[in-house]
Amino acid sequence: MKTYRIAAIPGDGIGGEVIDAGVEVLQALAARENFALAFDRFDWGGDYYKRHGRMMPQDGREQIRHHDAILFGSAGHPDIPDHVTLWGLRLAICQPFDQYANVRPTRILPGITSPLRRVSGPELDWVIVRENSEGEYSGIGGRVHQGLPEEVATDVSIMTRAGVTRIMRFAFRLAERRPRKFLTVVTKSNAQRHAMVMWDEIAAEVAAEFPAVTWDKMLVDAMTMRMTLKPESLDTIVATNLHADILSDLAAALAGSLGIAPTANLNPERQFPSMFEPIHGSAFDIMGKGIANPVGTFWSASMLLDHIGEPAAAARLMRAIERVTATPELHTPDLGGKATTRIVTDAVVAAIQADNS
Ligand code: NAD
Ligand code: MN
Repeated sequence: MKTYRIAAIPGDGIGGEVIDAGVEVLQALAARENFALAFDRFDWGGDYYKRHGRMMPQDGREQIRHHDAILFGSAGHPDIPDHVTLWGLRLAICQPFDQYANVRPTRILPGITSPLRRVSGPELDWVIVRENSEGEYSGIGGRVHQGLPEEVATDVSIMTRAGVTRIMRFAFRLAERRPRKFLTVVTKSNAQRHAMVMWDEIAAEVAAEFPAVTWDKMLVDAMTMRMTLKPESLDTIVATNLHADILSDLAAALAGSLGIAPTANLNPERQFPSMFEPIHGSAFDIMGKGIANPVGTFWSASMLLDHIGEPAAAARLMRAIERVTATPELHTPDLGGKATTRIVTDAVVAAIQADNS
């Protein structure tokens, strides 16, 4: 029997709660399939930082370098500045492992109500592709004369032809595989007249390689309006690191809750393991209460299974998730319900066991 090795990194806050739930559900699933999952758990994050002065060990990446995939919770600790936790853990994995394609599917699951009037479900079915290796989050910049009146600070957005070309190809290829074969390229080339103009030009060049895909272009500010007012006019979306970061939280809210939204940080060439995580953070306001919605983690786990080559198990997990969301009594408080993480997890495990297809 094939055994996949998965690195589980819960991180902080509700990260631990949702990753425990995710591991449980994945094990229930493996019990029904002809493969096994071996989890190695890495307790890196804020508490590790308090003991060791860093978020993960020096050789941390070496320890997970040969795993088949990574299941990640959240980086973010109430006592430590956010840029330290994010750069010390999540981005310290994403960037060196060249997980340049961040894929964020958004749709309204059965039983969940969109805050948008007139949207019942089928009108909102998107995949956002986020450039995940450069752009506004390249980490280039600095501060001088700190604290003095003449202090200067920069965060430089870096766009490379290689980086933009590969994310455009990835997005067009993904759009081509979806029924509508339609891609929207998000930009801001009216105000940012260098890198974003190159971004637009490369989009047009790559489009020529994908004649089956129709595409259009949208300024990011106008994009928020289109997502809200005409969700049915969108399908696959590609945007820069910062733009897609913002747009995907909006997308998650429009689809019912941030707690449901999944993401995959992919190294498409498979030179490094890819990382799967709910898009939400540590949620300090609800941590330790046992009410974190685990659905975003479950959906991410389904993407993980697809990626490692187990699409039947991935589909079984999605069916189980959808059976559970269809039942309002099984909604956590972020969805307006009263269910706990425990109750939702048990229900998804039961739905996996009851699934006979
Ligand atoms: P957040 O996603 O943690 O929380 C935003 C709001 O959504 C909160 O009200 C929270 O209770 C709610 N929420 C989030 N996930 C939920 C879930 N699964 N179930 C129910 N409700 C949920 O965002 P934030 O408050 O801006 O950030 C908190 C910390 O998390 C910060 O340190 C931030 O840097 C970090 N963060 C990390 C990641 C990551 O590691 N990928 C992503 C976002 C934020
Ligand atoms: Mn974000």
